[in-house]
Amino acid sequence: MRKVFVFSLTRRDTTSSRLERIIVIATVLTIGLFFVTSPVQSKGRGGSRTARTNALQAGIAKVDITPKKPVKMAGYSSRTGLSTGIHDPLSARVVVFGNKGKRLVLVSTDLLGFYGGTAEYMRKVILGEFQLEPSELFLSAIHTHAGPGLTIDKEKGHPNNLEYTEHLKAKLIEVIRKASSNMGPVNIGAGIGYSPVGMNRRELRIDSSGNSSIRLGRNPYGPTDKEVLVVKMTKLRRTPDGADGRTIAALFDYASHATCLGGKNYTISGDVLGLAEQFVEKILGDDVITAGFAGASGNIDPWFRVLPAFNTESGWIPEPVLLGTMLGEEVVHTFRNIGKVSGGGEIATAFVTLELPGKPRSEDTIEKDHPPTGLNITAARVGDIAFVGIGCEVLTEIGMAIKAASPYKHTFVITHCNGAASYLPPEHLYIEGGYEIRSSPFAPQAADIVVKHAVKMLHEL
Ligand SMILES: [Zn+2]
Repeated sequence: MRKVFVFSLTRRDTTSSRLERIIVIATVLTIGLFFVTSPVQSKGRGGSRTARTNALQAGIAKVDITPKKPVKMAGYSSRTGLSTGIHDPLSARVVVFGNKGKRLVLVSTDLLGFYGGTAEYMRKVILGEFQLEPSELFLSAIHTHAGPGLTIDKEKGHPNNLEYTEHLKAKLIEVIRKASSNMGPVNIGAGIGYSPVGMNRRELRIDSSGNSSIRLGRNPYGPTDKEVLVVKMTKLRRTPDGADGRTIAALFDYASHATCLGGKNYTISGDVLGLAEQFVEKILGDDVITAGFAGASGNIDPWFRVLPAFNTESGWIPEPVLLGTMLGEEVVHTFRNIGKVSGGGEIATAFVTLELPGKPRSEDTIEKDHPPTGLNITAARVGDIAFVGIGCEVLTEIGMAIKAASPYKHTFVITHCNGAASYLPPEHLYIEGGYEIRSSPFAPQAADIVVKHAVKMLHEL
């Protein structure tokens, strides 16, 4: 993390001339200047000294990715037909950061996730197209269950979904290129708000025989991460009084499934997180691109969950709109309270694929010699704001543990990022069982390994 360079200068020769002393001081100053400006050696966390020497650049862009044709929708296996309409548009939003040749590309898509090998497929294309290191790309989805499914399976995939996936690939290239082409110096700042929109969904049920089980429902006593992390980005305008330029982007991270809508819904929507993005853009202006990210929300659903449709009763505010607006309003409140934005900020990134202890999916059993399950973890920082991307559905306790142990005040935990390896629950929940445990391809001890690795990566950035 932070590296401190200590210069120890001991001179025993008291007879040395004044000229010699000047040469030594000049040499030390020159070396010191080298360390301050060298891209390899400057590992400061965006402090005042680096702020003067690093010019953080960023570019932003947004593209519409609403399906043009009816598609098979993702997220509920019970839903077999094609989509019948569109409630609100889906978008891909991109922020490209750059500093001293190092880049960080954050991609937020209004989709369920990159399942069925599509994460690897899209990442390979994007990394190649833009000559990025694997650690420089966060390809993520907000996990809406009212969007199209992605597929590259020519045998089993629906033709419209195959076509959509190829179209999406072209759109992602287009939007990253657009963001890369409008880069300029920026100021960034971060803030923390809180929202009750997300609710722990692991509900304890006890049947008439007294047997207990954990079902998907509502558990108001279970843990939820109420933090709404927000980043504000403004153009750096060099005025005599140092005033900031216009606002160009907002990023937010919140831990909830986007599942206000259930398996009976056939209408395309960004659901809670997508509607929150759209609300913020409506309030702050269309030119302030607002990219949302799903935090560690494997066991968190919106307060109103899996409803059959947008309620059209007169006077009723449809629940996805209500909750999306509520989350969006907190993003705006937090955004407006971010008083301090600053320039500078170095970029550091890291990427690892962990081979974690595995278990059979869709079973409660733990097999001793089950083959490991791979999981991608990506870590990055821009100045003193950190990002951890995890390629699966992380239960909320794990995200909270990473944030609590992070050396950064503002740490975005971004799930459904650079992979789609299903649920990762914390060890203590395996005793209770339930949907996330049964679906998980990971053995109980995997979560602790992930937390330790993610925190280690953050420390080493
Ligand atoms: Zn999910």
